[in-house]
Amino acid sequence: SLLRFYSSESAAPQTSDDGSSSLITRFADLPRLGVHDRLVNSLTSVLKYETMTDVQSMTINAALAGKDVVAQAKTGTGKTLAFLVPTVQRLIANQPELAYPRRGQARSDDIRAIILSPTRELAEQIGVEAKKLCQGTGVVVQTAVGGTQKNQMLRKTRIEGCHLMVATPGRLHDLLSDRSTGIDAPNLEALVLDEADRMLDVGFKTELESILNYLPHRTEVPRQTLLYSATIPKNVVNIARQFINPANFEFVQTVR
Ligand code: ADP
Ligand code: MG
Repeated sequence: SLLRFYSSESAAPQTSDDGSSSLITRFADLPRLGVHDRLVNSLTSVLKYETMTDVQSMTINAALAGKDVVAQAKTGTGKTLAFLVPTVQRLIANQPELAYPRRGQARSDDIRAIILSPTRELAEQIGVEAKKLCQGTGVVVQTAVGGTQKNQMLRKTRIEGCHLMVATPGRLHDLLSDRSTGIDAPNLEALVLDEADRMLDVGFKTELESILNYLPHRTEVPRQTLLYSATIPKNVVNIARQFINPANFEFVQTVR
């Protein structure tokens, strides 16, 4: 049931020794949570972000502490950076050389992070934001959506490789289930389900569940999963149960 799923959440906010809340709320303070200077510089000096929104602060703090996240947040609350910051940081933490641009390091069969979004337009917007954030690092971002020329996307991905793929569930399922594409993620470290309620509304339940079969089990490769949804109806809970680590997750709910 809903309640049983939520009962394992860690409701207590992070507190420091004196009991005060210690959530980081400014992008400039992210080095205190171990975020690489390159990434912080990109956020503050290049993209000019200063203060985090609620969902950003709560997600980023929880995810950087290693937790999976289920977040309920409305449109326009800044969810894109909420999941991009911890996801890109995780890739750099696991492969420190990714902090710096270097040619010829990415493969198309060793994707480390996947972000799933319900529509082509939303996935493309996330791809643009991810590329901005990763500029100045060695993290290679590719976008795979339905409707666009698949062969062109595949050629580009084979040449450039891919560390972080932004995709719609339909196109990703299509790519993973066809071995001839050369797209694979045997070492997947991070998975984001953005707008989970909308992905289910547009009929991607089967693709989402099937994608899980093409990914390493989260106990084989330690994977972090972040799930965002404006609403949490029963079908979203069911998806969350399949993707989220029940032993180590935080339920984040924001009102603005
Ligand atoms: P959502 O996915 O929740 O609908 P987005 O991630 O698309 O929201 O962000 C909405 C807008 O807010 C974007 O234009 C983004 O650049 C801007 N934005 C996000 N976070 C911040 C922030 N911390 N400070 C200022 N603007 C922000
Ligand atoms: Mg969004």
